[in-house]
Amino acid sequence: MVPFRQFLLKIHSRCNLACDYCYVYESADQSWRDRPRLMDDRTVRRTAALIAEHARDHDLAEVHVILHGGEPLLVGAARLEALLRVLADALDGVAALRLTLQTNGLRLAEDPALLPVLARHGVRIGVSLDGTAATHDRHRRRPDGRGSHSGVARALRLLTDGPYRHLYAGVLCAIDLTADPVETYEALLEFAPPRLDLLLPHATWQTPPPGLAGRTTPPRTAPGTDPGEPVPYARWLCAVFDHWYGAPSRRTGIRLFEEIAVLLLGGAASSESVGLAPVDLVVVETDGTIEQADSLKVTYPGAPATGLDVFRHTFADAARHEGFLARQRGRAGLAHVCGACPRSAVCGGGLYAHRYRPGAEPHPFASPSVYCPDLAVLVDHIAGRLRQDVRALAVPVRPVSR
Ligand code: SF4
Repeated sequence: MVPFRQFLLKIHSRCNLACDYCYVYESADQSWRDRPRLMDDRTVRRTAALIAEHARDHDLAEVHVILHGGEPLLVGAARLEALLRVLADALDGVAALRLTLQTNGLRLAEDPALLPVLARHGVRIGVSLDGTAATHDRHRRRPDGRGSHSGVARALRLLTDGPYRHLYAGVLCAIDLTADPVETYEALLEFAPPRLDLLLPHATWQTPPPGLAGRTTPPRTAPGTDPGEPVPYARWLCAVFDHWYGAPSRRTGIRLFEEIAVLLLGGAASSESVGLAPVDLVVVETDGTIEQADSLKVTYPGAPATGLDVFRHTFADAARHEGFLARQRGRAGLAHVCGACPRSAVCGGGLYAHRYRPGAEPHPFASPSVYCPDLAVLVDHIAGRLRQDVRALAVPVRPVSR
């Protein structure tokens, strides 16, 4: 059994934005409608105790708790303080508690009481920002239709310019093909993120990505470099990669590129997007139900559900659930096409949710990613750049005389 090391807690199930691509509110799974808005005290206490038990039972030196939503900061400063105190007390003397929070940023600028609470508990903060004001506001709008970029920018200034800089974990950006890639990258750099996450829009073979409506049939063999196959996401990402990698000094880290590079050099990745590492993240919803990754919400209603909850089950029960086991099988869990693909150790078949194709045999996730051709081109592109650099490194080695 692979123990969980990352616990994503949905502490508030609603949001103060109405982003058009949101996988929580706008996708196949609509389970948020039946959930309480807030994770109540009893659920927080029970979840914290179970995390500590799991850490103790599996001898984990540290656990990562990710505060998520909806918009997690809608809980308010007092509730946030209480919740963080419960987690800290439960893990005290058991395992190091690494806390992060993923937010749209708006509440940070609106409520001055929040940042001191987050600072007191050492919570690192990731903020969602999609690029220029125009690109960001095209998708990330308030319920009344107004854009949110100016509010997010105010929040980011609090993180970049003031005493809270050490809490700033980075920026998460959903890729919009209609935006210029380098312009997007430069717009994100204005907020000096320590790290960037560039996310492919969640999509499946049933609901293809924006700009690729015709991509509904997976390849039968591992992709070569078919010049006829459109790979707009690879082109977008390769443009950012070249700009980032070729810069005289690196101004931020980009997780996807760094992980592909590490995997190409024989190391291991820490995210589910690439590589073959077993999944070690579990979700607890506001009502205490235990679920799999949110990205599965784009596949079919109820896809992330396990039937388990923190009141009747443990995280060890969850770790034995078939849904988690299916994402821990490494190469054996890949589609036939991916198993025969020379890039599989790096690409890993792509994010599990992106493989979904109703009717696929022997199960609906037994296909390569809907981004397969793009992933192939991106991996080959990064490999090509690394190969050049490794060749340039190859100085003649003289034997040492003794
Ligand atoms: S999804 Fe990745 S591993 Fe699978 S065939 Fe495509 S490029 Fe290869």
